[in-house]
Amino acid sequence: MSSPTPLLADKTVRDIRSALSGRIFWCFLPDAVKGHFDQRRQREFDVLVRLGWPLLLLLVAGVAVLGWNNFGNGDMGSRDGLLWWRVMLLQFFGLAAFMAVIRHPRLLPHYQRLIIFIGMLNLGVVVFGGIVIDSIRLAQSLTYVSMLVITIQVLALRLSLWTSGICGFLGIAFGVGLAWAGWDRHPDWPMLLWSTLGSLVVTLFVGAIQERQERISYLQGLLLEHEAQERERLNQVLEQMAHQDALSGLANRRYFDVLLEREWERLRREQQPMAALFIDVDHFKLYNDTYGHSAGDVCLAAVGKTLAEAAWRPGDVAARYGGEEFVILLPATDADGASEVAERILAGVDMLAIPHASSPASGHVTVSIGLAVLTPDGRNTAHALLDMADQALYAAKHAGRHRIVAHQGGVPVRVAG
Ligand code: GH3
Ligand code: MG
Ligand code: MG
Repeated sequence: MSSPTPLLADKTVRDIRSALSGRIFWCFLPDAVKGHFDQRRQREFDVLVRLGWPLLLLLVAGVAVLGWNNFGNGDMGSRDGLLWWRVMLLQFFGLAAFMAVIRHPRLLPHYQRLIIFIGMLNLGVVVFGGIVIDSIRLAQSLTYVSMLVITIQVLALRLSLWTSGICGFLGIAFGVGLAWAGWDRHPDWPMLLWSTLGSLVVTLFVGAIQERQERISYLQGLLLEHEAQERERLNQVLEQMAHQDALSGLANRRYFDVLLEREWERLRREQQPMAALFIDVDHFKLYNDTYGHSAGDVCLAAVGKTLAEAAWRPGDVAARYGGEEFVILLPATDADGASEVAERILAGVDMLAIPHASSPASGHVTVSIGLAVLTPDGRNTAHALLDMADQALYAAKHAGRHRIVAHQGGVPVRVAG
């Protein structure tokens, strides 16, 4: 039942690292994670109390039975007996108020503050009883109860150290004050110091060590989770880099080969045709010579973007095959469909209207496209399809460039120009 770990900002990660490196006496939480830490703690508290409250009830009942034994016979109606019973009754009331806080969704978020009051009153009443009751055995039994209440408050309730500390000191002060001011009774100071106050100091000390350790583990857990998320993100980036051509943003040659085999197999099972387009920029060497290599790169990126926009169906694959040569796979597409895509590419590159003054084919950058369609039948291969598209491209170049040629039955046929 832990709340999801927030994505950590770089500054928070640095703060966590520095909090962890300077943690000799205490571990301060960076501001950005305090809320999350408290939330988690509150959830833990919630679970703890839901499971542990019968134990609390049993403890209070056990103390009551112990007290009953202390009476001997027939002392229940004595002054001490009546006082003792009232103190125990108030403990039950305190427990009931505590249950109300943790069971009420509107009160639960304020439990730290509310429990300061409840805990203070509970402890105060027990301390008060220990002072004003004369019977040594009964007073002693209440001292044990106060130590028990302190131990539970400081170590078991998942309160902050401040809350449990304030709760303890105020509770003792309240009990002493009540006995002193209301009943004119002074506490047995050494007894109070060495038992109730002593156990408060010891449990707070143990609580502080526990809290420090808990904060350290919490921060280490956050860092671990952050590092796992970071690794995951880097893996995704690496995977994308391994699949993508940096210049054009299209699939790279290696990834294209993988996709080609995968789609070819799939279409073989489905007995569907696969279309391939080979696209080559016309007179690109001249373009580089005229405008420079980096202008050439910009041109290739623009052509790549046009290709990606032309092949937009989910299964379509546009890849940079090498240099200024691109390839498009169109699964489950016949020659007509593939021609449509090829026309879109031809027109799209024309619309880019990238000036190419030295091109014999046109005044702007153009492409030639070879088109082929083949249905996998178990005897032919994907490479046969690529060879056919390549032959068609060669025919398109030969016929004057800036055109589409489809390979049909092994004979390249010009479709458009
Ligand atoms: P054709 O019309 O017959 O295709 O002529 P072409 O000049 O385009 O073909 P050729 O194969 O002779 O030249 C291809 C040129 O593409 C040569 C190479 O410098 C250039 N080229 C290949 N890859 C890149 C690249 O990544 N960036 C740039 N700027 N140029 C590239
Ligand atoms: Mg070329
Ligand atoms: Mg080429």
